[in-house]
Amino acid sequence: MTTEELLRYDRDHVWHPYTSTIDPIPVYPVAKAEGVTITLVDGRQLIDGMSSWWAAVHGYNHPVLNAAAEAQLQKMSHIMFGGFTHEPAVELASKLLPLLPPSMDKLFFADSGSVAVEVAMKMAIQYWQSQGKTAKHKFATIRSGYHGDTWHAMSVCDPVTGMHGLFAGSLPAQYFLPQPSVRFGEEWDEEAMYPLKDLLEKHAGEMAALILEPVVQGAGGMYFYSPTFLVRARELCNIYNVLLIFDEIATGFGRTGKLFAWEHAGVEPDIMCIGKALTGGYLTLSATATTQPIADTICSGEAECFMHGPTFMANPLACAIASASVDLLLQSGWQERVKAIETLLREELAPAARLPGVLEVRVLGAIGVIEMKEPVNMAVLQKRFVEEGVWIRPFGRLVYIMPPFIIHPDELRRLTTGVIKVLLLFS
Ligand SMILES: *Cc1c(COP(=O)(O)O)cnc(C)c1O
Repeated sequence: MTTEELLRYDRDHVWHPYTSTIDPIPVYPVAKAEGVTITLVDGRQLIDGMSSWWAAVHGYNHPVLNAAAEAQLQKMSHIMFGGFTHEPAVELASKLLPLLPPSMDKLFFADSGSVAVEVAMKMAIQYWQSQGKTAKHKFATIRSGYHGDTWHAMSVCDPVTGMHGLFAGSLPAQYFLPQPSVRFGEEWDEEAMYPLKDLLEKHAGEMAALILEPVVQGAGGMYFYSPTFLVRARELCNIYNVLLIFDEIATGFGRTGKLFAWEHAGVEPDIMCIGKALTGGYLTLSATATTQPIADTICSGEAECFMHGPTFMANPLACAIASASVDLLLQSGWQERVKAIETLLREELAPAARLPGVLEVRVLGAIGVIEMKEPVNMAVLQKRFVEEGVWIRPFGRLVYIMPPFIIHPDELRRLTTGVIKVLLLFS
């Protein structure tokens, strides 16, 4: 197939995320990727500023992860998890649990972040159902969140930037609170808790859980809020008997400067979701963790088990790579790397705040965000970024950089200067 044929067939028959089939935003054919370098079919090389949506923290084509995949392939790439178990899954669980909040004791492996969120929400509902509290089946969350594209995950995404309008009639209605008004690093103001307190006072009787992305909201708005919000939310959930779910699918594995973002606050959730960087960006895999009392309560109910079991549950190939990825991360000096990326992003992106089209620049961990005053033209901007040799995919009013942790300072500087140069043209 020539590149022209490939692009034509792709355009005619293959759906890409969030773009039209009638008039699709152009896509760039990739030949290979290694380290932080993405090589296009035409030979152009791009520095990766996206980590393939939070996932590729070690960069691409990593020899250690390749070796883990190859070794597991020689044994089996998949086997059903019903009635069988295997070393890759058990080894991965034994590596993950010590890294999660101490109360987390049971892990459910699933195939994507969205499914991990569905699993968490089903756990919360079954937990109350087992106790005869069938009225507790609603969820609360904060605005500008993102929890995935499947049904119940979608119901707790931001109602404006999410898909609520479109699916309004068929989506379960949940409770939405304002974004926490106190930002990360700002002085705490108790007023930020009033909406949650008020909601719980009125509706705790019908509420299964509060679901939050701790500290960093990702795809819903790239917003960083005060960890004290989590401390106080934990207290309120205890008082009002509502479970607390942390969705760490984006924030996990070092991205915010802590291994997991709950550590910024030091309070533990009842249920926690992880995904994205779990396999270092190699394969899709997620996990939902919970405490022993919650798991036991779920399984003491009418169903006598948790009612979920995906075909590719605990896929051995994905688990083997994830195990290697976790080891690699822990041995990589990730904390220093993320700190260095944060420092450099702060320095290099600061001048962007003075551009007329820019509303705000914010940085936390290995995440640098430039919020524009108006939504950007993704196709036009993307083309210019590619011409500058950088891979940045903006959405809405947000242009952001979250590179693989292995990025070299010179490469990171090429990303930041590329971004500022392009934004200057459009400001
Ligand atoms: C990406 C994301 C999801 C969904 O994960 P998928 O693997 O895309 O299904 C859920 N929650 C958060 C916070 C995410 O960033």
